[in-house]
Amino acid sequence: MLKINKLHKSYPIGDSSLHVLKGIDLSVESGEMVAIMGSSGSGKSTLLNIIGMLDEADEGDYILDNVPIKNLTEKKAAIYRNRFLGFIFQSFNLINYKNALDNVALPLYYQGLKRKERIEKGLFHLEKVGLKAWAEHLPSELSGGQKQRVAIARALAADPKLLLADEPTGALDTTTSYEIMAFLQQLNDEGKTILIVTHEEDIADMCKRIVRLVDGVIMEDKFVEQVRASQYV
Ligand code: ATP
Ligand code: MG
Repeated sequence: MLKINKLHKSYPIGDSSLHVLKGIDLSVESGEMVAIMGSSGSGKSTLLNIIGMLDEADEGDYILDNVPIKNLTEKKAAIYRNRFLGFIFQSFNLINYKNALDNVALPLYYQGLKRKERIEKGLFHLEKVGLKAWAEHLPSELSGGQKQRVAIARALAADPKLLLADEPTGALDTTTSYEIMAFLQQLNDEGKTILIVTHEEDIADMCKRIVRLVDGVIMEDKFVEQVRASQYV
Protein backbone atom coordinates (compact mmCIF):
# COMPACT_ATOMS: atom_id res chain seq x y z
CA MET A 1 0.00 0.00 0.00
CA LEU A 2 2.71 2.42 1.10
CA LYS A 3 6.48 2.12 0.97
CA ILE A 4 8.90 4.84 2.00
CA ASN A 5 12.67 4.59 1.63
CA LYS A 6 15.34 6.87 3.08
CA LEU A 7 13.12 9.91 3.14
CA HIS A 8 14.70 13.26 4.04
CA LYS A 9 13.13 16.66 4.56
CA SER A 10 14.64 19.97 5.62
CA TYR A 11 13.08 23.40 5.98
CA PRO A 12 15.06 26.58 5.32
CA ILE A 13 15.30 28.68 8.48
CA GLY A 14 17.01 32.01 7.86
CA ASP A 15 20.44 31.30 6.40
CA SER A 16 20.52 27.70 7.58
CA SER A 17 18.13 24.78 7.44
CA LEU A 18 16.32 22.50 9.82
CA HIS A 19 16.76 18.82 9.03
CA VAL A 20 13.41 17.39 10.19
CA LEU A 21 13.23 13.91 8.63
CA LYS A 22 16.58 12.12 8.50
CA GLY A 23 16.08 8.93 6.56
CA ILE A 24 12.64 7.50 7.23
CA ASP A 25 11.95 3.91 6.15
CA LEU A 26 8.34 2.87 6.54
CA SER A 27 6.11 0.28 4.92
CA VAL A 28 2.41 0.02 5.57
CA GLU A 29 0.27 -2.82 4.29
CA SER A 30 -3.34 -2.62 3.30
CA GLY A 31 -5.65 -3.01 6.32
CA GLU A 32 -3.23 -1.65 8.92
CA MET A 33 -4.07 0.97 11.54
CA VAL A 34 -0.86 2.74 12.49
CA ALA A 35 -0.17 5.45 15.08
CA ILE A 36 2.69 7.85 14.34
CA MET A 37 3.98 9.20 17.64
CA GLY A 38 6.71 11.57 18.72
CA SER A 39 7.18 14.74 20.69
CA SER A 40 6.10 18.14 19.40
CA GLY A 41 8.32 19.20 16.51
CA SER A 42 9.56 15.66 15.84
CA GLY A 43 8.24 15.78 12.27
CA LYS A 44 4.99 13.80 12.51
CA SER A 45 2.90 16.26 10.50
CA THR A 46 5.75 16.75 8.04
CA LEU A 47 5.83 13.00 7.41
CA LEU A 48 2.03 12.76 7.11
CA ASN A 49 1.94 15.73 4.74
CA ILE A 50 4.55 14.10 2.50
CA ILE A 51 2.59 10.84 2.55
CA GLY A 52 -0.51 12.90 1.70
CA MET A 53 1.28 14.65 -1.18
CA LEU A 54 0.66 18.01 0.46
CA ASP A 55 4.41 18.48 0.77
CA GLU A 56 7.44 17.05 -1.03
CA ALA A 57 10.44 15.20 0.34
CA ASP A 58 13.96 16.41 -0.52
CA GLU A 59 15.35 12.91 -0.90
CA GLY A 60 14.10 9.35 -0.85
CA ASP A 61 11.50 7.23 -2.54
CA TYR A 62 7.83 6.99 -1.84
CA ILE A 63 5.52 4.47 -3.49
CA LEU A 64 1.77 4.63 -2.93
CA ASP A 65 -0.35 1.79 -4.24
CA ASN A 66 2.41 0.86 -6.69
CA VAL A 67 2.71 4.41 -8.00
CA PRO A 68 6.09 6.13 -7.44
CA ILE A 69 5.37 9.57 -6.02
CA LYS A 70 8.16 11.83 -7.16
CA ASN A 71 8.27 14.93 -9.28
CA LEU A 72 4.57 14.62 -10.03
CA THR A 73 2.96 17.64 -11.62
CA GLU A 74 0.49 19.37 -9.30
CA LYS A 75 -2.30 18.18 -11.54
CA LYS A 76 -1.25 14.52 -11.28
CA ALA A 77 -0.68 14.86 -7.54
CA ALA A 78 -4.22 16.23 -7.17
CA ILE A 79 -5.63 13.28 -9.12
CA TYR A 80 -3.78 10.73 -6.94
CA ARG A 81 -4.72 12.62 -3.79
CA ASN A 82 -8.41 12.52 -4.71
CA ARG A 83 -8.27 8.91 -5.76
CA PHE A 84 -6.22 7.37 -2.94
CA LEU A 85 -6.35 9.60 0.10
CA GLY A 86 -8.74 10.97 2.69
CA PHE A 87 -7.64 13.59 5.24
CA ILE A 88 -8.79 14.24 8.80
CA PHE A 89 -7.36 17.17 10.77
CA GLN A 90 -7.30 18.26 14.41
CA SER A 91 -9.24 21.44 13.63
CA PHE A 92 -11.70 19.67 11.31
CA ASN A 93 -11.05 22.07 8.39
CA LEU A 94 -14.72 22.23 7.40
CA ILE A 95 -15.93 25.05 5.20
CA ASN A 96 -17.89 27.27 7.56
CA TYR A 97 -20.40 28.65 5.09
CA LYS A 98 -21.32 25.23 3.68
CA ASN A 99 -23.72 22.91 5.48
CA ALA A 100 -22.69 19.40 6.61
CA LEU A 101 -23.94 17.73 3.45
CA ASP A 102 -22.20 20.17 1.11
CA ASN A 103 -18.95 19.74 3.05
CA VAL A 104 -19.16 15.97 2.70
CA ALA A 105 -20.13 16.16 -0.98
CA LEU A 106 -17.29 18.52 -1.95
CA PRO A 107 -14.67 15.83 -2.82
CA LEU A 108 -17.27 14.26 -5.10
CA TYR A 109 -17.50 17.52 -7.02
CA TYR A 110 -13.78 17.25 -7.71
CA GLN A 111 -14.36 13.70 -8.90
CA GLY A 112 -16.77 15.07 -11.47
CA LEU A 113 -19.97 13.56 -10.08
CA LYS A 114 -23.33 15.13 -10.91
CA ARG A 115 -25.21 16.98 -8.17
CA LYS A 116 -27.84 14.27 -7.66
CA GLU A 117 -25.16 11.62 -7.14
CA ARG A 118 -23.15 13.91 -4.88
CA ILE A 119 -26.18 14.42 -2.64
CA GLU A 120 -27.02 10.71 -2.55
CA LYS A 121 -23.46 9.70 -1.68
CA GLY A 122 -23.05 12.61 0.74
CA LEU A 123 -26.20 11.57 2.64
CA PHE A 124 -25.03 7.95 2.66
CA HIS A 125 -21.77 8.92 4.34
CA LEU A 126 -23.45 11.33 6.76
CA GLU A 127 -25.72 8.47 7.76
CA LYS A 128 -22.68 6.26 8.28
CA VAL A 129 -21.34 8.72 10.86
CA GLY A 130 -24.81 9.07 12.42
CA LEU A 131 -25.46 12.63 11.27
CA LYS A 132 -28.00 12.38 8.47
CA ALA A 133 -30.43 14.53 10.46
CA TRP A 134 -27.80 17.28 10.60
CA ALA A 135 -27.27 17.49 6.84
CA GLU A 136 -28.63 21.03 6.54
CA HIS A 137 -26.75 22.41 9.51
CA LEU A 138 -23.69 24.63 9.35
CA PRO A 139 -20.47 23.57 11.14
CA SER A 140 -21.05 26.37 13.70
CA GLU A 141 -24.19 24.54 14.82
CA LEU A 142 -22.34 21.30 15.53
CA SER A 143 -20.33 20.10 18.53
CA GLY A 144 -16.63 19.32 18.13
CA GLY A 145 -17.30 15.59 17.94
CA GLN A 146 -20.03 16.13 15.35
CA LYS A 147 -17.72 18.35 13.30
CA GLN A 148 -15.09 15.63 13.31
CA ARG A 149 -17.71 13.10 12.21
CA VAL A 150 -18.63 15.35 9.30
CA ALA A 151 -14.92 15.63 8.48
CA ILE A 152 -14.61 11.84 8.58
CA ALA A 153 -17.66 11.49 6.30
CA ARG A 154 -16.01 13.96 3.93
CA ALA A 155 -12.74 12.01 4.05
CA LEU A 156 -14.66 8.82 3.22
CA ALA A 157 -16.84 10.32 0.49
CA ALA A 158 -14.53 9.50 -2.40
CA ASP A 159 -13.79 6.03 -0.95
CA PRO A 160 -10.04 6.52 -0.42
CA LYS A 161 -7.71 3.57 0.06
CA LEU A 162 -5.80 5.33 2.81
CA LEU A 163 -7.08 7.62 5.57
CA LEU A 164 -4.57 10.11 7.01
CA ALA A 165 -5.50 11.69 10.34
CA ASP A 166 -3.36 14.37 12.00
CA GLU A 167 -4.27 14.53 15.70
CA PRO A 168 -7.93 13.71 14.97
CA THR A 169 -8.80 13.77 18.67
CA GLY A 170 -6.57 16.72 19.59
CA ALA A 171 -9.44 19.18 19.95
CA LEU A 172 -11.88 16.79 21.62
CA ASP A 173 -12.62 15.77 25.21
CA THR A 174 -11.75 12.26 26.34
CA THR A 175 -15.17 10.66 25.82
CA THR A 176 -15.60 12.19 22.38
CA SER A 177 -12.03 11.18 21.49
CA TYR A 178 -12.84 7.56 22.28
CA GLU A 179 -16.05 7.78 20.24
CA ILE A 180 -14.09 9.01 17.25
CA MET A 181 -11.44 6.31 17.79
CA ALA A 182 -14.16 3.64 18.07
CA PHE A 183 -15.48 4.83 14.75
CA LEU A 184 -12.02 4.78 13.14
CA GLN A 185 -11.46 1.26 14.50
CA GLN A 186 -14.77 0.20 12.96
CA LEU A 187 -13.69 1.62 9.60
CA ASN A 188 -10.42 -0.27 9.94
CA ASP A 189 -12.35 -3.47 10.78
CA GLU A 190 -14.19 -2.90 7.50
CA GLY A 191 -10.83 -2.82 5.72
CA LYS A 192 -9.80 0.83 5.57
CA THR A 193 -6.08 1.49 6.02
CA ILE A 194 -5.54 4.31 8.53
CA LEU A 195 -2.52 6.35 9.68
CA ILE A 196 -3.05 8.46 12.79
CA VAL A 197 -0.63 11.06 14.09
CA THR A 198 -1.06 11.51 17.83
CA HIS A 199 1.02 12.42 20.86
CA GLU A 200 -1.42 10.69 23.22
CA GLU A 201 -0.34 7.21 24.34
CA ASP A 202 -3.88 5.99 25.00
CA ILE A 203 -4.97 7.01 21.51
CA ALA A 204 -1.94 5.25 20.00
CA ASP A 205 -2.80 2.10 22.02
CA MET A 206 -6.07 1.96 20.06
CA CYS A 207 -4.11 1.40 16.85
CA LYS A 208 -2.60 -1.94 15.81
CA ARG A 209 0.92 -0.64 15.34
CA ILE A 210 2.92 2.22 16.83
CA VAL A 211 5.74 4.03 15.03
CA ARG A 212 7.75 6.46 17.13
CA LEU A 213 9.74 9.35 15.66
CA VAL A 214 12.70 10.73 17.60
CA ASP A 215 15.13 13.28 16.17
CA GLY A 216 13.99 12.68 12.61
CA VAL A 217 14.29 8.89 12.60
CA ILE A 218 12.00 6.02 13.54
CA MET A 219 13.21 4.85 16.96
CA GLU A 220 10.49 2.29 17.54
CA ASP A 221 8.10 0.39 15.30
CA LYS A 222 5.98 -2.23 17.03
CA PHE A 223 2.74 -4.13 16.63
CA VAL A 224 0.48 -3.94 19.68
CA GLU A 225 -2.59 -5.62 21.06
CA GLN A 226 -5.19 -3.05 20.09
CA VAL A 227 -7.25 -1.52 22.92
CA ARG A 228 -10.87 -1.31 21.78
CA ALA A 229 -12.18 2.22 22.18
CA SER A 230 -15.77 0.96 22.26
CA GLN A 231 -15.28 -0.38 25.79
CA TYR A 232 -14.92 3.22 27.00
CA VAL A 233 -17.98 4.70 25.27
P1 ATP B 1 3.37 18.81 16.74
O1 ATP B 1 3.21 17.60 17.64
O2 ATP B 1 3.62 20.05 17.54
O3 ATP B 1 2.26 18.96 15.76
P2 ATP B 1 5.07 17.66 14.67
O4 ATP B 1 5.77 16.44 15.13
O5 ATP B 1 3.86 17.49 13.84
O6 ATP B 1 4.75 18.58 15.94
P3 ATP B 1 6.09 19.17 12.42
O7 ATP B 1 4.92 20.06 12.25
O8 ATP B 1 6.26 18.08 11.43
O9 ATP B 1 6.14 18.54 13.89
O10 ATP B 1 7.38 20.09 12.43
C1 ATP B 1 8.68 19.58 12.56
C2 ATP B 1 9.65 20.73 12.62
O11 ATP B 1 9.67 21.38 11.35
C3 ATP B 1 9.29 21.81 13.63
O12 ATP B 1 10.48 22.23 14.23
C4 ATP B 1 8.67 22.91 12.81
O13 ATP B 1 8.92 24.16 13.36
C5 ATP B 1 9.37 22.76 11.47
N1 ATP B 1 8.48 23.13 10.34
C6 ATP B 1 7.32 22.53 10.00
N2 ATP B 1 6.79 23.07 8.88
C7 ATP B 1 7.65 24.06 8.51
C8 ATP B 1 7.69 25.01 7.44
N3 ATP B 1 6.73 25.02 6.50
N4 ATP B 1 8.73 25.87 7.39
C9 ATP B 1 9.70 25.82 8.32
N5 ATP B 1 9.74 24.97 9.34
C10 ATP B 1 8.74 24.09 9.45
MG1 MG C 1 1.89 18.13 14.01
